[in-house]
This record gives sequence, structure tokens and C-alpha cells, in this order.
Amino acid sequence: MSLTYEDALSRYEPVIGLETHVELGTVSKMFCGCSTIFGAEPNTHTCAVCLGLPGALPVANAIAIESTIKIGLALNCSISPWCRFARKNYFYPDMHKNFQPSQYDEPLCGEGHLDVVVNGSVVRVGIERVHLEEDTGKNTHVGGATGRIHGADYSLVDYNRAGIPLVEIVTKPVPGTDALAPEVARVYVTELREILRTLGVSDVRMEQGSLRCDVNTSLMPRGATEWGTRTETKNVNSLRSVERAVRSEIIRQAGVLDAGGRIKQETRHFSETTGGTREGRSKEEATDYRYFPEPDLLPIAPDPEWVEELRRGLPELPIARRARSRSALGVSAEDMQAMTNAGVVDLVAATVDAGAPVGEARNWWMGYLAQLGNSRDVEATELGIDAPQVARLIALVADGTLSATLARQAVDGVLETGRTVDDVVAERGLRVVSDSGALTSAADAAIAANPEVADKVRSGKVAAVGVLVGAVMKSTRGQADAATVKAILLERLGVSE
Ligand SMILES: [Zn+2]
Repeated sequence: MSLTYEDALSRYEPVIGLETHVELGTVSKMFCGCSTIFGAEPNTHTCAVCLGLPGALPVANAIAIESTIKIGLALNCSISPWCRFARKNYFYPDMHKNFQPSQYDEPLCGEGHLDVVVNGSVVRVGIERVHLEEDTGKNTHVGGATGRIHGADYSLVDYNRAGIPLVEIVTKPVPGTDALAPEVARVYVTELREILRTLGVSDVRMEQGSLRCDVNTSLMPRGATEWGTRTETKNVNSLRSVERAVRSEIIRQAGVLDAGGRIKQETRHFSETTGGTREGRSKEEATDYRYFPEPDLLPIAPDPEWVEELRRGLPELPIARRARSRSALGVSAEDMQAMTNAGVVDLVAATVDAGAPVGEARNWWMGYLAQLGNSRDVEATELGIDAPQVARLIALVADGTLSATLARQAVDGVLETGRTVDDVVAERGLRVVSDSGALTSAADAAIAANPEVADKVRSGKVAAVGVLVGAVMKSTRGQADAATVKAILLERLGVSE
């Protein structure tokens, strides 16, 4: 029998940690003037500096430094009064200079924290550092079955991404989360993404790689005081995968430890298909990178007054915005938490602003729309229907134009065609049949076709009328109001409810 998550948790205590890379949304790259726009022809956004040609001198991007400080301030970090870039030396085709300008022992932002709410309680995630570096190019391995370099016929490299400013946000190890560890990891990344979006420093699109997450997991036997060896899971490309990666790694490590094995310090790759991790390379130590201060760049020494100005200019952060939304929406703390975890607070608030009642707005975003999001593995914001359209849908249900079934069909139509609710309703003829003559003949037809059911209803088994309602709904292709149909059927059968 294979090991369950609960088994693993009964014997071991997990410690997690997260390293998040964020591509900043600056117009130009970190150390040159090349464009950062995603999706251009390969190797068209490059120059001598970002290709690292001999003699080219980098100049740091001031907006990138400002954005990094804002992130640090939003995460309650201390801002270093003086720090430097360092060279991280390694060889890989996507890093053609053979070093990456990064920060080592002098990060721009240190010691901070982010509070997240999981299952009604606050978990404080310590932030170890927030530092600035540049992104690498992108390798594409062609011909192999797995898309990995092993087994590929050839590889291509695109340096458009090389040199885009990248911020790395590293948490301290988070112990004590027990069975909630996977959820804490997901909620942390969700909250961090909301903060970054609110600051306007990045478009934080996980599927395009502008927000990338590595998840560290280790286990220690219950009662032990020394943490176990951690693994680092890479390529975790969605919020749901963050949770799955921690969970599967806990089960895998418990299996290894149960069998008397040892956990290797290594990077592992998360597979969206299997939901598990597979072995990557063994993890380098910092000394392998031979860090040294970058000689081509000036130190960064942000003026304390400027830092204070940035602090005062920070927008309202998500936690405060949610508190305000909660009192404006008048929902319970539990409801607010559920909406927060589903990432729909702002959508519900915007739907209410567009005229919908809170309860209806909440039910749509937490109900059918959330289901669609889950089945397509996208966030509610990326579904392809916005708050005003959902408010319009709710209005059409309220005035009786659409039934609940038709309203769902209208949503499907909006997502398929990208058109408005009104267009889809008009084009597909999605309207409740309220013509009582038409409904009466449909009811009579259903009674005639199901004489035994009709007799049952007449003899007092009123619940059996459901079958006839179903038949009428079918013959009107779901376009009748079920309560009206039921009333007409009972009237035709001479039965009172
Ligand atoms: Zn360039």
C-alpha cells in the first residue's frame, strides 16, 4: 500500500521555504536600453551589453532599483543604505557571459515578513532578502520527447529575455505549519502576487514566466529539533502547482525516510502531468559560484529621504484593501477568507460596483465561474469574463429574462466567443419562455406522454411532478422557468400543492 499524506504527517514535520523570481515590468532591460516586450522574434531585443560582448559596460536601471525598494518596503524589509552587485559565475548556454550580475552578501532589502491567513489563523512568513539580478536567456530543446536537453536533436537559445530585471524574494524557512504546509505555500505566493500587482511593478503572469516559484521542502521526524535536508522544486508554474508540489514532495520524502534512505540535497522538477517531482541536478553550494563584487557597476546607495518618500507613496496594500472591501461588502470574516483564497475579492467588489447584489456576485464568482476556472486551470481574472458582464448576467436573471441554466449557457457563450452577455443571449436565443400559451401546450404534451406519472401526481404523490417538469424543460431546451412550469403542470392536473 502506498504512503498517504496523513501517514507522512503523522511521523514527520515539514519545513517549507519559497524563492520567488519576478520579472519587473520596466520598459528597458536591467543594464542596457533593449526592450523587454514579451513574444518578439528571437534575438531581436539584444545589444552588446546584454550579450556581454567584450568592452561593453552596463548601467543599472533606476526604475528597477526603485521597484525593488518598493517590494522590500511592502514586505516590511529593511532597505540597505549601501550595497553592491556581485558576479555569480557559472557556465550555461542561456548565460553567455558565464556570469550573472546578481547580489550576494549585500542584498538591496533584508529582514522582513509577510503575514498570510490560512484556515482563519495568521502565519508570519519571514522574508530573508529581496535582491536584484538579471534574467537569463531561454533555451528550447527540440526533438526529444520530454522537452529536456537529454534526448534532444538540437537546442535553440533566445537572448531576448537575457538582461530583463529580475527580483528574487527569498523567505526564511517556515516551520510549524504541519498539514497546512502546502496551503501556506500557495496562499503566500497568492498574497505576494497580489502585492506585486498592486505595486504595479510586474505583470506577474505565472504562465508566461514573469512570476516563477521554487519551493523548498524538508521533513524532520516528529520530536526532532534539527531540520532535515531540503530539496528545491523548480518550474512550479501555477498557484495550484505550488500546493501540489509541496504535498507530493512531503509524501515522496517520507517514503525515502521510512525505507531508511537519506534525502539528497538537489533540485527537482515538478511535472504538471503526474503531479509529482523528478530528480534534477544536485544542488550547488554558494562557494561553487565564486561570487565576487561586480567591478563594472557602481554600488547602490539609496538616499534615506528618497526611501521614505517611496514608503509614503506606497499604494494601499491588499490586506488593507480587503479589510475595506469587507466592511463595504458587509460579508462575514469566513466569507471574506474564502473569497480571498479563491482570489475573487476584487472581482466580487467590482461586480457589486457594477450594480449586482453582494450575495449574487459572490455566488457567481465562487460557484460556476470558479468551477470553470478550476477545470481550465486558470485564475478567475483570466477566464475571459469581467465584472460588468457578470453584473449584467445577474440583472438578466433577476428580471426573469434568463433562468439559472440559461445564465450558465450565456457564460459559456461569452467565454467561447469573447462577445458580450447581451450579444450571446440575442444570438443564441437564450430567453426564458414566458408565453403561458406555449408553456401550457408543452405541459399538456408532457402529461399525455407520461400518463402513469400524471396519475401518480393526481393520486397525491406530488413529488413525482418533477419528472414532468424535466420533460417540459427538455422540450423547451431549458428555456422555461422551472417554478412556473411546475405551477402550470399542477394546475393542469388539478392538484394543489
Ligand atoms: Zn541590450
